[in-house]
Amino acid sequence: MRLLIKNGRVIDPDSQVDDTLDILIDRGKFAEIKPKIEGDGFKIIDASRLVVAPGFIDMHVHLRQPGQEDKETIKTGSLAAAKGGFTSIACMPNTEPVNDSRDVTEFILAEAKRNAVVNVFPIAAITRGLDGEEITDMVDLHNAGAIAFSDDGHPVENSLVMRRALEYSRLADAVIIDHCEDRQLSAGGIMHEGITSLKLGIKAIPASAEEIMVARDIILAKETKTRIHIAHLSVRGAVDLLKWAKQQGIDVTAEVTPHHLFLTDTALESFDTNLKVNPPIRSEQDRKALIQAISEGWIDVIATDHAPHTPDEKDVELDQAPFGINGLETAVPLLLDKLVNKNILSLEKFIVMISINPAKILGLKNKGKICVGADADLTLLNLHQEVVVDTNQFLSKSRNSPFNGWKLKGAPVMTIVGGKIVYS
Ligand SMILES: [Zn+2]
Repeated sequence: MRLLIKNGRVIDPDSQVDDTLDILIDRGKFAEIKPKIEGDGFKIIDASRLVVAPGFIDMHVHLRQPGQEDKETIKTGSLAAAKGGFTSIACMPNTEPVNDSRDVTEFILAEAKRNAVVNVFPIAAITRGLDGEEITDMVDLHNAGAIAFSDDGHPVENSLVMRRALEYSRLADAVIIDHCEDRQLSAGGIMHEGITSLKLGIKAIPASAEEIMVARDIILAKETKTRIHIAHLSVRGAVDLLKWAKQQGIDVTAEVTPHHLFLTDTALESFDTNLKVNPPIRSEQDRKALIQAISEGWIDVIATDHAPHTPDEKDVELDQAPFGINGLETAVPLLLDKLVNKNILSLEKFIVMISINPAKILGLKNKGKICVGADADLTLLNLHQEVVVDTNQFLSKSRNSPFNGWKLKGAPVMTIVGGKIVYS
């Protein structure tokens, strides 16, 4: 079926378009984009007063399937993504079993084809079983459909293994997504190390646990002349290292999550386990440094690190609870309310960070843009719509969000994947 989206404010930073346009979609691709498209035989969507953006891509999601289907499945995670305005998601390999083999990658792709409403791109492990020792067969995994490599949740502790993995990733032509954590420094820690952790007497994770690994891995990327993507940047010192690396011409990109942008460690005074996440929510100075780095263009991507956990798992003491925040259905309203509507980030730069840059980093050539022939993935936004976060309304299987009850202005209102309306 052909779809005609009329009178929307089309923003396509890739072609520097910001104009009222009609978009015709045919057989899953953009067929025509111009001021007035007439004719019949189309399903028509009136997008007046809405922003029409290239489909949002979340490159850091935990879908929990195979193995932990009580937390989330590929199907429910994809429904949550569609509702949250994402047309594509990339899923981390820390499933059970770990995605370190062609079988698991193929299972995820087959399950996505059967049950997912958005595009699902598997990320395979850097090392077998995420054990940090034996590097996976990256070329084979990439051929099977793995789009990138990560041991996310675990650092690659051995520098030699990381160096070899970087060299090998170049052969596979896929980026390594780096979880930066020195486990000797972070061991047993629950929250950010600072005045609040001292006051509460909670074992903490220092900023250095992240900074040391960021420094090591940008140095390894420099030496091996490979590219690297740093996941969930959370501290000011890591931002400084990122700036240094970019100024040196090292091929490094980085992402930040909404929870690190909009929360600080003092919130842990509530002992709410929904605030327990790794890397931890940091200090106000760190948060400000991240916001500034975004507005100055140093950070490339916003990703959710969507990490669903069941209520039973989170309904325990802080030290017993698993790390992770449910992010797919809150990210876009948070970012529109707190960055775009407050003029900290232009709508155009926001779209670059949540659509164009993830597409480029993951090598998705037909995504992140609205041009004739590209995949017809679109996110429609209403910048004025007011929403109240209600975790009971989540399509995700889990409810672990610290943003429950937050009032926000700006929301995704329709999600189109391959020319099909998957959320409205
Ligand atoms: Zn991680």
